[in-house]
Amino acid sequence: MNQQETPAALILIFGATGDLAKRKLFPSLYRLYRKGSLSDQFAVIGTARRDWTNDTFRQHVKEAIADSTKQLEQLDAFISHFYYQAHDVSDSSSYRSLKALADRLDDTYSLQGNRLFYLAMAPEFFGTIADHVKADGLTDTNGYNRLVIEKPFGHDLPSAEKLNQQIRQSFEERDIYRIDHYLGKEMVQNIEAIRFANALFEPLWNNRYISNIQVTSSETLGVEERGRYYEKSGALKDMVQNHLMQMVALLAMEPPIKLSTDEIRSEKVKVFRALRPITKENVDQYFVRGQYGSGEIEGEPVKGYRQEVNVDPQSNTETFVAGKLMIDNFRWAGVPFYIRTGKRMPSKSTKIVIQFKDIPMNLYYQPDQPLAPNLLVIHIQPEEGITLHLNAKRAGQHLLTNPVKLSYANNSVDGMNTPEAYEKLLNDALRGDATNFTHWDEVALSWRFVDVISDYWEMKQAAFPNYEAGSTGPKAADELLEKDGFFWWPLSTLEVDVCN
Ligand code: NAD
Repeated sequence: MNQQETPAALILIFGATGDLAKRKLFPSLYRLYRKGSLSDQFAVIGTARRDWTNDTFRQHVKEAIADSTKQLEQLDAFISHFYYQAHDVSDSSSYRSLKALADRLDDTYSLQGNRLFYLAMAPEFFGTIADHVKADGLTDTNGYNRLVIEKPFGHDLPSAEKLNQQIRQSFEERDIYRIDHYLGKEMVQNIEAIRFANALFEPLWNNRYISNIQVTSSETLGVEERGRYYEKSGALKDMVQNHLMQMVALLAMEPPIKLSTDEIRSEKVKVFRALRPITKENVDQYFVRGQYGSGEIEGEPVKGYRQEVNVDPQSNTETFVAGKLMIDNFRWAGVPFYIRTGKRMPSKSTKIVIQFKDIPMNLYYQPDQPLAPNLLVIHIQPEEGITLHLNAKRAGQHLLTNPVKLSYANNSVDGMNTPEAYEKLLNDALRGDATNFTHWDEVALSWRFVDVISDYWEMKQAAFPNYEAGSTGPKAADELLEKDGFFWWPLSTLEVDVCN
């Protein structure tokens, strides 16, 4: 991968003692450094409540990196760029001390006044921090000032609007980088290349040739320690409003006139505008919710969601969502986009299946079953690749066919894992490329779509639990497709074949 070198910058991480910083941000910065993508002119200030010294912080960063990789060359040189300051997010004097340290590091490392403010903290602090960094002078520099903001961006449209208005007091839209880490994933970024760099697919990419599209993101894990957060969120807000709808937009958008941030975003926004709105009267026709009960995962018994820590024993929160999205425009009229996400499902996997229409007349056949439709499967994670499902003639049997799979697996070609999403997104933000971050218009439109469903679900107590841990979700999710004459392609039959 050729990541470009970033310009000089100071990276301020708010919430630097937290889980995200430890598992994702420090290892990603280190990988950028080792590859030479991070300019030598960089410094990191970590802030959080704890009263740590620079040395304690550096040791913490070192351990975080050692946990993530065995290649530890130049680690000491790397962490010498890290500084720590204890911080109270609502106290101006804290920000003034931070500014003094930032200005000093700006001189020491010739950072040209470039600052990236990374908010790796609970969302209730996003607005306060954005206010203070401006009011207390941290953004008064001659370089760029960018805000990187983690999900969730609000919990519905009104709260997202409020947060947006607040952060826009301090940062221009073009300087706000709203993270959706799915957009940093190699194969999500590959959706555009598959579509727009191949003469083969784009002519077929419409309602004349595609019968339906299925996007599944499944997890085997339950809610783990995140019960408190998850109870307020649920799968719809945690996964659908952002990650799944973003993948749908990339699959459905028109070819942009060029691959620039503004052009791509504008095409994605048009998809959201073309989404057939759901009303409270027809939610049940388009969306299904589920919550896992007890069951088995990989042979081990696991408890139900309502028995998890910090979860209400009568919880009405969904851990599974399946939905049908209709995009009412010329290209997609009549083609359902089915989406599905859930916890405690049989495998951890994110896949997109593009199912092509049946050929008009079967001259060939497969024994005991109808001729299989062509599928293009995009494997997002954990495997990364593409598989094309075709039919080929069975040797010696002139009317019989065999299904064949043409596979491309990313890992087997590169011989290494692809870069972590966070590594790419940090590199992008430092270089000022906002293409793989969500624009406010996308956030607003996706909340507007999802709010109707969540309001309706909140009003009605569901008959939960309605799927067993380790199963593929409630029966109603299968019926959603069956009534249209389709079925979910079983994930187990879609595995990418790794050919070396
Ligand atoms: P965390 O609870 O592990 O860390 C929170 C950090 O904020 C800690 O450093 C804590 O000291 C600091 N903090 C809390 N209150 C503070 C205060 N009043 N003043 C100063 N510092 C304070 O949280 P996390 O898991 O790292 O998540 C951070 C953000 O990233 C959240 O918005 C979360 O939704 C998002 N996120 C996390 C992950 C993940 O894998 N952990 C994934 C996606 C998004």
